[in-house]
Amino acid sequence: MKYSALENYIDGSSSPAENAIEVISPVNGEQLSTVPVSGKADLDAAVAAAATAFPAWSQLTIRERCDVFYRYRNQLQDNMDELARICHEENGKTIAESKAEVLKAIELTELACSLPNLLAGKVLEVSKGFDCSIQQEPLGVVSCITPFNFPIMVPHWTIPMALALGNTMVFKPSEQVPLSGNETAALLSQAGLPAGVFNVIHGDKSVVEGICDHPDIKAVTFVGSTPVAKIVYSRATGSYKRALAMGGAKNHLVVMPDADVAHTASNVAASACGCAGQRCMAAATLVAVGQVNHIIDEVVEASRQIVPGDNLGAVISESAKQRIEGYITEAIEQGATALLDGRDTVVEGCEEGSYVGPTVLDNVTSDMRIANEEVFGPVLSIMRTDDLQGAIEIEQTSPFGNAAVVYTQDGQVAQAFADAASAGMIGVNVGVPVPREPFGFGGWNESRFGVGDITGQGSIQFWTQSKKITSHWVSE
Ligand code: NAD
Repeated sequence: MKYSALENYIDGSSSPAENAIEVISPVNGEQLSTVPVSGKADLDAAVAAAATAFPAWSQLTIRERCDVFYRYRNQLQDNMDELARICHEENGKTIAESKAEVLKAIELTELACSLPNLLAGKVLEVSKGFDCSIQQEPLGVVSCITPFNFPIMVPHWTIPMALALGNTMVFKPSEQVPLSGNETAALLSQAGLPAGVFNVIHGDKSVVEGICDHPDIKAVTFVGSTPVAKIVYSRATGSYKRALAMGGAKNHLVVMPDADVAHTASNVAASACGCAGQRCMAAATLVAVGQVNHIIDEVVEASRQIVPGDNLGAVISESAKQRIEGYITEAIEQGATALLDGRDTVVEGCEEGSYVGPTVLDNVTSDMRIANEEVFGPVLSIMRTDDLQGAIEIEQTSPFGNAAVVYTQDGQVAQAFADAASAGMIGVNVGVPVPREPFGFGGWNESRFGVGDITGQGSIQFWTQSKKITSHWVSE
């Protein structure tokens, strides 16, 4: 085992749990560590630590709390190489992609550092001698549950903002990528975060259920697949918590005949294959409008340049590889044409790793499973249609709604598509239209349950409750 056994992080200290499972690197099959499968007593201890820490932490001024995050931002910068290596080992993505995660975590921390400016309040004399003011107050103990595909970035969608706003947290990372969570806790502690403000509780389904049910947890964010997002959203709100649950995705990239060939080709290929296609903003379906074969040929060429083990990372596990290859096989059996087939990929020197090569499937039709379900691998399906309206209908039929993209040089076409698409994040000649901060991240439909975006200025509302104060100072 490469690293020592992981433990929970409760009240500023490591805390063992009774049961543990192996953590295997998808890069080469090496056992990295073991991760606790926590029980109710472990969760109760983490929540109790967070509850104890809440009064002192929440009573600091916002500037005092942000001082911790100024230091933490620099810790992320200084430890970028180490964090990126761990992320690469546990998740399988490339070192460059792992560094991009750390950079995004820095950006998210910087937004939290700007809270003193963002929160500057409003006061209005509402009647003669009567002032009304508003202040945002933290909720108490909150929780964040995250998926395997972004071990560093997705937790930072919530951690800096929720904590800088005065909440204390119980964080449940994916059991498939648990190492980054403990690194985050260590760096926050080094930055001066008091013990108990941030706690890490490892585990699986039963810890998630315990978080949803726990009477002392006030709010939960979840990021993961749609079936689990539905369970978490209904269970957490069923126990009267504030909840925001981000689900899966199936993103459509519409290619118009006038699209710039070189840009579109490299951009679509990067969107489909970046992070081995394990992104909720990845290209899943290229909707080819009219005669665009000259662009599709270049998409295939650009995808061929993406090489497993070099600039294409591993998928998360052997079972994920088999699931992805199952989708490809079934689509081909149903009549799809493989322009590029990434099945049975083996990377020399990493024979025990889990790799799928770039795959491009043409002539995918709406009745195929691959057209409708999230594959979550480096697989691009091509669906054909005659005109923009046909492309819009394909996009709108999807039950998901994270990203929708159009490649064109015509501003009116771009605007018409942006207006009609049923998705929360639109790209115009941008294959992965993740909004940069302070614009918030959030999809529509079955990609998001709950109100608002999970990042950006809007997330301040999620992590706080407003208090309105009406004052009248009576003079003699
Ligand atoms: P997942 O739903 O399997 O797991 C997410 C978390 O839920 C993990 O911490 C896991 O331990 C827990 N969990 C798993 N099964 C559970 C169950 N039955 N009950 C309660 N908790 C359970 O997701 P994943 O495979 O880790 O991540 C990939 C998914 O996340 C993809 O669908 C992807 O699209 C989605 N995702 C969405 C966004 C977004 O913003 N919409 C962002 C990143 C990833």
